[in-house]
Amino acid sequence: MSDTSVKPIVNSVVNDDTGSVHLRSVTKSYGNAPAVAGVDLDVQSGEFISLLGPSGCGKTTLLRMIAGFEHPDAGDIVVAGKSMLDVPPHKRPVNTVFQSYALFPHMTVAENVAYGLRQKRVPKAEIAERVYESLSLSRMETFADRTPQKLSGGQQQRVALARALVNRPKVLLLDEPMSALDRKLREEMQIELKLLQRQLGITFIFVTHDQQEALSMSDRIVVMQGGAIQQLGSTEQVYSEPANAFVAGFIGKQNFIDAVVVSPGVLQSADAELITSRMPDGLAPGTAVRAAVRAEAVRVTSGQPASGIPALVGTLAGISFLGDVMQYVVITPSGQEIIARTAPAQSEPLSTGAPVWCAWDLADLRVFEPEPVA
Ligand code: ATP
Repeated sequence: MSDTSVKPIVNSVVNDDTGSVHLRSVTKSYGNAPAVAGVDLDVQSGEFISLLGPSGCGKTTLLRMIAGFEHPDAGDIVVAGKSMLDVPPHKRPVNTVFQSYALFPHMTVAENVAYGLRQKRVPKAEIAERVYESLSLSRMETFADRTPQKLSGGQQQRVALARALVNRPKVLLLDEPMSALDRKLREEMQIELKLLQRQLGITFIFVTHDQQEALSMSDRIVVMQGGAIQQLGSTEQVYSEPANAFVAGFIGKQNFIDAVVVSPGVLQSADAELITSRMPDGLAPGTAVRAAVRAEAVRVTSGQPASGIPALVGTLAGISFLGDVMQYVVITPSGQEIIARTAPAQSEPLSTGAPVWCAWDLADLRVFEPEPVA
């Protein structure tokens, strides 16, 4: 397990015996391709943190290194104040709930949950107590004698959760555990999982590519791309104050408009002059930038907004009723597509093909330098 190129750096980390996780310059490559590139992360004990990013961004590799199924090429992983570099997976104070449930089909629910404790030769009475406790926590105690084939996907996922909780881990690692569930069940499980995490007070590190899932459950979100952290912040921060265009585009529905800086706070797009109150300092006139405005910040109206309100004119190309919101697709004369989402009660009756205005508040247009994401 040990690797002479990897030096524990536990001294630089706060020493505690709780469920804290500290990653220091954690790096992992497969061949010449970096999967995780120098990640630093401090997870507080009892925190619900999500690793969020598109497929291939390195989130599973990072989780597997915390679990001990992969070894970093460099850096250190400290759990509960102790470097894990030389600690095998089954001796780490962490447990993983995987995407696939991998339950033993010939064993009952209770036997599946008890399996790990039996292997560790935990006394029978304690096993019975802990199995009941973890099945109760995952609300599966009445299914203890069933075999997995007689359970729904959601129930099997609860058994997988109970199987992890039975070890009473300090840190629970969850790798897209709900991806096989349908949307309604997933939303129910999200609420339950969050309540359970609060009740137990253990650290949850949750991998997902679903921004809604991450937003609904997490205390903080780590947005990853290209093996690196693009932003670490509270759900509100990553949503309202995205650090760069990648984060802005990944969380929520964003309209990007290519533009050139005219003067501080003033941009020129292919269609019109755009005014913004939020622009990085020091952008010289002529700099090419990406302006971004969220779909829910855009209002579509048939009449021209009052002067001073930033707006683009276009043609209404599509209207969709999405249940809680109306979605409008507007195409500007230059071919720029603008998506707007508005609560049905606040939507003016409009017809496709009609000329319309897209307007937003000054502060809702953000400006990013078009830096390529590593
Ligand atoms: P997904 O959501 O698709 O699971 P991810 O963000 O979890 O993606 P990883 O599975 O961590 O991403 O993969 C990061 C990169 O490392 C990808 O380019 C992937 O192809 C590569 N990779 C992961 N595991 C291996 C492996 N065992 N061998 C070679 N390359 C790997």
